[in-house]
Amino acid sequence: MNKIHVMDEILANKIAAGEVIEKCSSVVKELVENSIDAKSNKIIVDLVNAGIKEIKVTDNGVGMAKEDAEICFLRHATSKIKNDNDLYFINTLGFRGEALPSIAAVSNIELKTCEKDIGTKIEVSAGKIIKSESCEARKGTIFKVNDLFFNTPARLKYLKSESSELANISNLMEKFALSYPNISFVLTNNQKRILFTSGSGNLLNTIYEIYNKEISSNMIKIAGENDDYEIYGYICKPEILRSNKNFMHTIINGRIIKNLEINKMIDDAYYTYKPEGKFPIVVININTDPTLIDVNIHPTKQDIKFSKINSLKELLITLIKKALYQNLLIPKMENKKIFDVNNQHFENKENHEEFNSVEIKQQNILPTDINLVKENQEEFNFSKNQNFEEVKEHTHNETIKKLELYPVGLCLGTYIVAQNDDGIFLIDQHAAQERINYEKYKKSLKSKVKGKINLLIPITIELSPSEFLRIKENINILEDMGFEVSDFGINTIAIKSHPIWLKSGYEEESIRKIIDIIQIKNQDFSSEAFNEKVSKTLACKMSIKANTNLTIEEMESLLTELVTCDNPYNCPHGRPTIITFTKYELEKMFKRVMD
Ligand code: ZN
Ligand code: ZN
Repeated sequence: MNKIHVMDEILANKIAAGEVIEKCSSVVKELVENSIDAKSNKIIVDLVNAGIKEIKVTDNGVGMAKEDAEICFLRHATSKIKNDNDLYFINTLGFRGEALPSIAAVSNIELKTCEKDIGTKIEVSAGKIIKSESCEARKGTIFKVNDLFFNTPARLKYLKSESSELANISNLMEKFALSYPNISFVLTNNQKRILFTSGSGNLLNTIYEIYNKEISSNMIKIAGENDDYEIYGYICKPEILRSNKNFMHTIINGRIIKNLEINKMIDDAYYTYKPEGKFPIVVININTDPTLIDVNIHPTKQDIKFSKINSLKELLITLIKKALYQNLLIPKMENKKIFDVNNQHFENKENHEEFNSVEIKQQNILPTDINLVKENQEEFNFSKNQNFEEVKEHTHNETIKKLELYPVGLCLGTYIVAQNDDGIFLIDQHAAQERINYEKYKKSLKSKVKGKINLLIPITIELSPSEFLRIKENINILEDMGFEVSDFGINTIAIKSHPIWLKSGYEEESIRKIIDIIQIKNQDFSSEAFNEKVSKTLACKMSIKANTNLTIEEMESLLTELVTCDNPYNCPHGRPTIITFTKYELEKMFKRVMD
């Protein structure tokens, strides 16, 4: 009887393995989470052939007694959940308890662990314990998984190429390291070191160790809380954006998650600070009462559901916007060779599908300047008594408003060259005008500026029959904006008055544009989105027209207006308006100073 039961158990585990263990990184994830739960502060992951041949996880945490070590290969034998109720208060990572038996069912395992000076060594093959004996005592646990999926050829086939498996594991380890700056992580493949973090406890330092100085020096700290959530982390300046979302790290209560809603919030917060399709590098820790989140919606525990999502949204977006607003974001032209190499490696390869630049990354492994930012060693520890900045509604960025730029001339018919004591600035004339106009239109539309200009001769606009019907249907939108409209013969409307913010000389063209936007209006019309679209379109249109040779005085007033914008750094499409060559960089390039 007992034997049959065990067979059932192994079969069940083999089936479960399909659910939980999809690739080598799933194994690494489970084992590393166990090491974290065991309070390790150093976790080493050694791979052979990207984990397909062997995955070895060595930690220095709390080990296991012999009985526990044996039991951990049984299904649902988790020590972490005692009853159903506990599911709502999960604070450890690998709570499901399914993972180890699942891994064991489809591989050969050697486990060495130790409790109170008694070492235990267990060997498991295809889910069966084949050896369990005492061994030398060493603090912590060594978990070796060999020949993953050797007994399930169908699944083995689904493992991707070595480079792809390695890319996934590397990405996972980056996330672990960013989630636990106080733990030192090492990742090697075929004895080559791929990732190293020192466990300094400093998140910015960890970002530096994982990526490089270019990235860590372009990060902005965010921190804040409300009644439901505490947020702490770093977001990047818009000059170092990426083409994929692999650099957006969100950690909820110490758990790495992938959540579309949160990614969307971050994306929204960067609105017009970046072009669409570009993504920021962020590391965001969110701490909350475990009862506000549901981590059980996905078997691999990577997604999460929030019960007070709006509260989180408000806090997160405010913090990011404030951080962007308060920092000087003019991109500096610097020698970016090293950065570009790294950049390439990630830029073109969605999801790290290829991973042939492992060697390139290694140059970042041994930081020469490990004390990069030591001021705030404890910053990662999210204690209640930590004094977070209040999130204030209106905080003005004085630095940019005080920025004085003296125009020198126009280059290539496009770029205004300006200077001050700090360096040379290039301003994209169209982008700058676009930004200024965009903010003007947006403010006018939002506050519904009431002033009207009555036209002696109405502007008549001829439309196609369908356009005409559509405008008649939506005449209230035009009226709301301050237009006075009437019929004027067949398929023609007459504008008798228009709002004052319409740029003079371009009235008819502007109205045409607005009508075009009304044409594409769909079911769920929101005036906010409509105003946004109108502001963007008109701003672009009007700025192209203004793209003539400006006088120095006109350039001056353009620059003065630009620096008073809410976001002077980007056009409404997220392209930069201004870049700088700092005096220091110039001196370096001309070898006036040596670095
Ligand atoms: Zn434009
Ligand atoms: Zn633009």
